[in-house]
Amino acid sequence: MAEDNKCTVQGSLKSVIEEAEKLEQYDEQALRRFIRLQVQNVDLDTWVYLGPSGDYVLVPGLFCSCNDFTIRVVGKREKCYCKHLVEQAVSERKKLYKTVNLESFEEYVKILNEILTQNLTSTLRRKLYSR
Ligand SMILES: [Zn+2]
Repeated sequence: MAEDNKCTVQGSLKSVIEEAEKLEQYDEQALRRFIRLQVQNVDLDTWVYLGPSGDYVLVPGLFCSCNDFTIRVVGKREKCYCKHLVEQAVSERKKLYKTVNLESFEEYVKILNEILTQNLTSTLRRKLYSR
């Protein structure tokens, strides 16, 4: 199990996809909490998980801003990914996520800032729930 290269970029992306394929029981409600951010003319693969106790920024297969990822993946190197990265892959495959088109790159940065500093993006939540 403990291979030195298992948490490389390719290794981690591969294991997230493998884990997602094995996942037979999943919480559909959790899969519907994923939002894909899009900005016109900007090539992005940034996702947000709007959680019941806070929001996270994700880069598929690579990064999640939750505490579990910070502590156990980056800090202690106990594993290569958190459950959100696996759920994101399933949500994407099952098309249970929503896509939000942002007005500008500045708005995108604002949303990321809100999540990374306050664990909650009021800007994205407002956009989602006001239409
Ligand atoms: Zn996470």
